[in-house]
Amino acid sequence: MKDQLECRFCNKTFQKESTLVAHMCEPKRRILAENDKANRIGYNAWLIFRRLITPNAKKTPSYEDFTKNKYYTTFVKLGKRIIDLHIPEPDNFVKYLVMNSVKFSNWGKDFVYEMYIREMTKKETVQRAAERTVLLMQQWGMDQQQDWKTFWTNVNTTQSLHWIRVGRLSPWVLLGTEQGKSLLDRFDQHQLQEATGYIELDPWRIRIARNKRDCEWMQDVFNQIKEQ
Ligand SMILES: [Zn+2]
Repeated sequence: MKDQLECRFCNKTFQKESTLVAHMCEPKRRILAENDKANRIGYNAWLIFRRLITPNAKKTPSYEDFTKNKYYTTFVKLGKRIIDLHIPEPDNFVKYLVMNSVKFSNWGKDFVYEMYIREMTKKETVQRAAERTVLLMQQWGMDQQQDWKTFWTNVNTTQSLHWIRVGRLSPWVLLGTEQGKSLLDRFDQHQLQEATGYIELDPWRIRIARNKRDCEWMQDVFNQIKEQ
């Protein structure tokens, strides 16, 4: 009898090489997706998760091990979410989920992400927040085909509110610079109410007062970005 060809992922057998090559199954699809961005981020997140729950494990499991793991789909979904929301410091987000014993079923929920953002923006330095904001302004300029330096006067308030919710606009900048405050001044009553639901105003005002010098530095950075 002629040797049968076998798919090394699902063990299904084939008569012809061409049918084997064209064959697709879930295990093979997962292997082939190794270089997809969501898979790379998902695999990395899974490694962080494993290190946290089994700190004494010596061996780092391979990507193939990951594709066979029961949490594969959970972590690839997490990878997609990290990309879609531009989640800052993704490694820390994974640690946050694990250390706070967030249930897998809640990993994609908005309230979990909003809690993380609140924690993260509190720990983030003024410098890092300023840097992220400049990058956001430049990205906005490219997307809108506008001069990025006109960000504060021209950015859409609905869009800004969304960025506040997902942490792309930090309270450091919003409450600690004239430019940030000028954006909040453009918000209507309803938007302002929603924004203050995401930002705890009093603790932030205290934090800004305590970091006066850093905030002066930040103000200087934004003053130098002059509209043409
Ligand atoms: Zn197969």
